[in-house]
Amino acid sequence: MTEPAFDPPLPEADPEVWRLVQGEDARQRESLRLIASENYVSRAVLQACAASLTNKYAEGYPGRRYYEGMDFIDPLESLAIDRAKALFGAEHANVQPYSGSPANLAVLLALLQPGDVTMGLALPAGGHLTHGWKVSATGIYYRSVQYGVRRDDHRIDLDEVRALALQHRPKLIWAGHSAYPRQLDFAAFASIAAEVGAHLVADIAHIAGLVVGGAHPSPVPHCAAVTTTTHKTLRGPRGGLILSKAEHAAAIDKAVFPGLQGGPHNHTTAAKAVAFGEAATPAFRAYAQQIVANAKALAEQLLARGYTLVSGGTDNHLLLVDLTATGISGRVAGTALSRCGIELNGNAIPFDPRKPFDPSGIRVGVPALTSRGLGTAQMNDVATLLHDAIAEAARTAGNPSDEFCTTMRARVREFLAPWPAPGL
Ligand SMILES: *Cc1c(COP(=O)(O)O)cnc(C)c1O
Repeated sequence: MTEPAFDPPLPEADPEVWRLVQGEDARQRESLRLIASENYVSRAVLQACAASLTNKYAEGYPGRRYYEGMDFIDPLESLAIDRAKALFGAEHANVQPYSGSPANLAVLLALLQPGDVTMGLALPAGGHLTHGWKVSATGIYYRSVQYGVRRDDHRIDLDEVRALALQHRPKLIWAGHSAYPRQLDFAAFASIAAEVGAHLVADIAHIAGLVVGGAHPSPVPHCAAVTTTTHKTLRGPRGGLILSKAEHAAAIDKAVFPGLQGGPHNHTTAAKAVAFGEAATPAFRAYAQQIVANAKALAEQLLARGYTLVSGGTDNHLLLVDLTATGISGRVAGTALSRCGIELNGNAIPFDPRKPFDPSGIRVGVPALTSRGLGTAQMNDVATLLHDAIAEAARTAGNPSDEFCTTMRARVREFLAPWPAPGL
């Protein structure tokens, strides 16, 4: 009988996978990562993700499990729950959602009947698929009404939200976004929701880190439930989290399990607990404030170089740049920038005349760079790198030479050298 070779470390056991992991590590170290939804987790979070907890089944909740052997899993999940509640000031927390999208579906399952009316920010205006966009389960199993932003200042039009709410009488209103550079007025949303008897649910996937760091107002006091990912500005593992008022606790727990999911990913729960612990520190508070300061500084630098920003600037962690005047699309720019070691994504701008797959804008986020320690003093250089690459992409109709891209990648590497990537 041959013994299974379970012992060798990854580099020996599977060199093919190891080589790809190493490649990704190097890429994350050496490129200017400006994707607004991405970050670098700490070494402690990475270690928790790799823990033996991945071997354990734990369907149910602490103290009420369908499996034995919960000596360590129960206290661990309770710790994550307690830390989440304290961090956000919430009455209830469910730390089991596999990610942001299942967290949103769980809230719908908990609070609505299939076919009920929901309202959310439209995807092309900066909303998320799971806020009722037509291809999402949230737009297929529920009747979705979408609101937008104003043409003149690109802000959410709360008069329109109220008028649509009075007309369609939604049972649930989403307040949240994936590509919106301004703050949300949760109190105003709450008064509209109260007027029509709807649950207000905030989805703070992008801004959770800003909220806990005091750099964005908190929706928690105003909402029936709040959902978030844990891996964006919150700087934890890939995962989801639902916070709610105590009155919805039982319905939300039942919706997550057994409504939607099976066993929780305990290694991710551990990493969430670590991230919540980190996010409760003064250093994280400073980090959250620095993100907003960096985004504002980068906005100033891009405006000074003649770029057009959606809404004219930013109050949070991201900017949307309208590239129409450059003559290249967001997608073409994104592809060219990627060859230059600068990562961001093409993104629709409000009222975009182009198709979503090849939109007019790019989305630029600073959470990852801020995690490396870059401050406002470095945003001038970031803007120069961005501008040099975009200008060359525009001059060459999206095809900068290999030589140009190699030079740019070297410039990016050199620029980032004094700012080590956390955890890697
Ligand atoms: C990223 C995001 C999600 C979904 O998160 P996944 O973890 O990718 O499923 C949900 N809502 C908003 C607003 C987001 O930005």
